[in-house]
Amino acid sequence: EEILRLEGIEKRYNPGRPNEVAVLRGADLTVGRGEVVALVAPSGAGKSTLLHIAGLLDTADRGEVAIAGEALGAASDRRRTILRRQEVGFVYQFHHLLPEFTALENIVLPQLANGTARAAAEERARALLASVGVESRAEHRPAALSGGEQQRVAFCRAMANTPKLLLADEPTGNLDPATSDTVFGALMSLVRETGLCAVIATHNLELASRMDRQVRLDEGRLVPV
Ligand code: ADP
Ligand code: ADP
Repeated sequence: EEILRLEGIEKRYNPGRPNEVAVLRGADLTVGRGEVVALVAPSGAGKSTLLHIAGLLDTADRGEVAIAGEALGAASDRRRTILRRQEVGFVYQFHHLLPEFTALENIVLPQLANGTARAAAEERARALLASVGVESRAEHRPAALSGGEQQRVAFCRAMANTPKLLLADEPTGNLDPATSDTVFGALMSLVRETGLCAVIATHNLELASRMDRQVRLDEGRLVPV
């Protein structure tokens, strides 16, 4: 079952200006249910741009994005927003948790926004926290958590609305190697449990080698590694 399809994606910044940069030049990628793909490339190659387009946070200049079989070429902004909220989970290098809310609330709030009742949302949030080993941190605010704990909570938040697609941009990029390993392990077991489809950008070739498949961004196109 195809969850993400990118076809002929092109993206340039500052078009027609002296500082124009063609970041994506015909990128193709198809990822199926349960598949975890590593996206590897040097910094500046366009990984964030590609993930933002795949996650419907940005639009391509040309090419097609389809999520769970739905092609989004002619979709309205409203439809894109609904799909992004329901079907896509995002994890960034820095956690982006809301500082004034507890870990639990950070996972509950997106579910309330999506129409889930509070009791069910809290139950799911606690189960997610437990699955990555941070249930004892439920009532802590992000500032009281270690970097590794913050990222594990960020994964839970990304999974809050049971998306079909998880996109992660250097999710362990600001952690030391040992923490990075633990956090990556937690992410992988969460992904495996849910049969999620994931695209994970990383500089870490050892982590990349533990995913199902690797693709590299090379001059704006995706090539198998
Ligand atoms: P990566 O995630 O691989 O580091 P990015 O997708 O962030 O790469 O950026 C790819 C290239 O596009 C870089 O040269 C970057 O400077 C440029 N770029 C990214 N975002 C913008 C923007 N909003 N405006 C202009 N250039 C941008
Ligand atoms: P809008 O205000 O356009 O309806 P959202 O409320 O969905 O957009 O998202 C607000 C911001 O949150 C976005 O600009 C983006 O940076 C971030 N964001 C959107 N979707 C996600 C997601 N699935 N996971 C994490 N961050 C997201």
